[in-house]
Amino acid sequence: MTIPNMNYSDLKDSYLFHDIGERVSRYQKEHPGIKIYRMGVGDVTLPLCDAVIKAMHDAVDEQADISTFHGYMPECGLPSFREKASLHYASRGTEISPDEVFVSPGASDDLGAIMDLFDSRNSVLVMEPAYPAYVDTNIMIGRRIVHMPAGEFNGFTPLPDPSLRTELIYICSPNNPTGAVFDRDQLKKWVDFANENGSVIIFDAAYEAYIEDPSVPHSIYEIDGAKDCAIEICSFSKTAGFTGTRLGYTVIPKELKRYGMDLNAMWVRNRTTKSNGVSYIIQKSGEAVFTEEGQRQINENIRYYKENGRSFMKVLDDLGVRYYGGKNAPYIWMKCPGELNSWDFFDLLLNEIQVIGTPGVGFGSCGEGFIRFSTFANSSDTAEAAERISSLLRRF
Ligand code: PLP
Repeated sequence: MTIPNMNYSDLKDSYLFHDIGERVSRYQKEHPGIKIYRMGVGDVTLPLCDAVIKAMHDAVDEQADISTFHGYMPECGLPSFREKASLHYASRGTEISPDEVFVSPGASDDLGAIMDLFDSRNSVLVMEPAYPAYVDTNIMIGRRIVHMPAGEFNGFTPLPDPSLRTELIYICSPNNPTGAVFDRDQLKKWVDFANENGSVIIFDAAYEAYIEDPSVPHSIYEIDGAKDCAIEICSFSKTAGFTGTRLGYTVIPKELKRYGMDLNAMWVRNRTTKSNGVSYIIQKSGEAVFTEEGQRQINENIRYYKENGRSFMKVLDDLGVRYYGGKNAPYIWMKCPGELNSWDFFDLLLNEIQVIGTPGVGFGSCGEGFIRFSTFANSSDTAEAAERISSLLRRF
């Protein structure tokens, strides 16, 4: 009989968004017509910017004409896209060559696929609370996972612990769900630790576009030594509204080698075997993000989400509520009031003021007692939700 990958039986059922959906639809059934304020979603709401849409239309027209039609794409990405990504790094003072950039259909795809490069005997460090894919991807492969708690006691930015040495280390900065960011010194400690131990860091930069603070690196390659130990996963989802359009890129420096194996060359081999590239239309529309006009327009959208964050945080500040994130990330990680746990507070928010957050415990047990609010809703809903939270919290 065929033996399935039995590691899948070790996966815990993911109930988080299912449970949220169930509770919300039960509430709606019992209270028809009542408006719900969805502050939990991690999806963008503003449409793609004009520069992207124009480039997309142009690419569609090219595909309609025999003289400009494109078939299969280069597996690692269009040279023009890789060149533009390389120049984007250069504009921030970081040297990444085009053949170190690999176009992807988004960060999730590569966070999973990149794990093909590493033996299942490697152990993996995950700082928790965490984006759930880090844990589940490695359970599927059967790797040992070492959980490192991130909490108020370490500002949600844990530093290397010599008693927790693993071959692979995930770092997500700005962080989903906590909104925490690692500064230069903290990242340097991780890079040095990885190089001392021969580990590889998987640096998830999905939210780098939200960084305001100049002391916070946008890329791990701003840190000396990172090219010897880190892979960077980038996404256009939250940067440019590509959640439904699907585009990202992954950087694997040429310097990154382990046991004499060149990880960049291995990934070329992997992509040319397992991928036929990302759609021409999508890559061309993504190239528009790197233009001056594209950067100006995506930054307008990011400013809109940031303004949401500022008005929300102002209300929490006025109340003296404890929260983290919000400044360099589109997430606000709030301590539940009193002794309420994440789900109790979720229920209270839904039943009393019709506001939805994401229970922190859904990102791992270290998230218990917190709730995540996102800044992606429209501004009037965000302002109304903040007002409602304010009047609710005054009762505590
Ligand atoms: N990494 C983090 C930390 C995320 O929060 C998300 C999406 O929410 C992703 C990766 C996935 O991004 P993409 O839409 O590019 O697959």
